[in-house]
Amino acid sequence: MTSGRAQLLIEIMSKNYQVVIIGGGPAGLTAGLYCTRSRLTTLLIEKGIIGGQIANAERVENYPGFPQGISGIELGRLIYEQAVKNGLEILLAEAIKSVPGQRHNLVSTSEGDFTADSIIIASGSQFRKLGVPGEDEFVGKGVSYCAICDGPLFKGKTLAVVGGGDAAITEALYLSRFASSVKVIHRRSLLRASKIFQEKAAAEPRIEFIWDSVVTQIEGDGVVKQLRLKNTRNAKISVLELAGVFVAIGAEPSSALWQGLLPLDEGGYINTDEVMETQVPGIFAAGDIRHNSARQAITAAGDGATAAISAERFLSF
Ligand SMILES: Cc1cc2nc3c(=O)[nH]c(=O)nc-3n(C[C@H](O)[C@H](O)[C@H](O)COP(=O)(O)OP(=O)(O)OC[C@H]3O[C@@H](n4cnc5c(N)ncnc54)[C@H](O)[C@@H]3O)c2cc1C
Repeated sequence: MTSGRAQLLIEIMSKNYQVVIIGGGPAGLTAGLYCTRSRLTTLLIEKGIIGGQIANAERVENYPGFPQGISGIELGRLIYEQAVKNGLEILLAEAIKSVPGQRHNLVSTSEGDFTADSIIIASGSQFRKLGVPGEDEFVGKGVSYCAICDGPLFKGKTLAVVGGGDAAITEALYLSRFASSVKVIHRRSLLRASKIFQEKAAAEPRIEFIWDSVVTQIEGDGVVKQLRLKNTRNAKISVLELAGVFVAIGAEPSSALWQGLLPLDEGGYINTDEVMETQVPGIFAAGDIRHNSARQAITAAGDGATAAISAERFLSF
């Protein structure tokens, strides 16, 4: 006798879907909502938490429609509920391989193989972490990976940005609009950021640089209060008191599956045109996984809607 879950898997696997979506963050769930409302048979595959990265946000204050803000988990749950109500099927599994083919794309997962006329890749990216004590404990309580998301919460406070590339300096410049002081902590004595950003940062009196230093610990009492820093030249330890630390040391796209199958940019993000189509007809990408994404929940959701509309048009011909 087969168990309920095994039976469900047999049913799903024997079906060819018009659209398979990989990833259940704002991009994938919104794509699912639009696909199912267009009456396309659609399966969304998610390996982790439904809602994606936004589920880690303590409070989201820049997603339209929620003037008081909303917790990230609740926002993910609401988008999920809306998509499922419209008929989206969801499978909790990891997509591990894909073999694209003319209207017969194979997606292999940890739970079996599926075929789809069209695929929407919405597998997102993950911010690189410092990997120091206190980092996970204080996410949303002073540790952030997104200045646009959380910067306005720190008006008049002392903040730090960790990193030395374009992203770090852009975050520092943005934060200097709110913070009383922004310390850029860099492990070397030279920035990797483009000259233009370096010049802008040097001209901003609220930005200071702490060179040759790494964060070894984030400490606080319910919220972040201070960082422990180690000088990389003389190993001296110092303490920096502040209200928030923004980690800007890059992000890793979840695109390993597509290496050699789709053109990726030098960072491993997927290139698409303006309607979210990749260079392989019928394969679309949406959200943070895309080259040059703005990495916001609303832009991911917008990409997801566009990808679904494009998939629907592709399938009508
Ligand atoms: C702490 C934090 C706070 C944030 N705050 C805000 C904010 O206030 N406002 C805002 O607009 N944005 C915020 N963001 C950014 C926002 O969460 C992202 O821009 C958005 O979630 C991207 O959506 P996405 O659907 O493209 O990707 P993701 O949300 O990353 O979703 C991708 C999903 O794909 C799944 N996946 C990956 N590979 C596979 C695979 N092989 N098989 C199956 N599933 C797979 C992942 O498990 C994940 O759930 C925040 C992010 C973080 C981390």
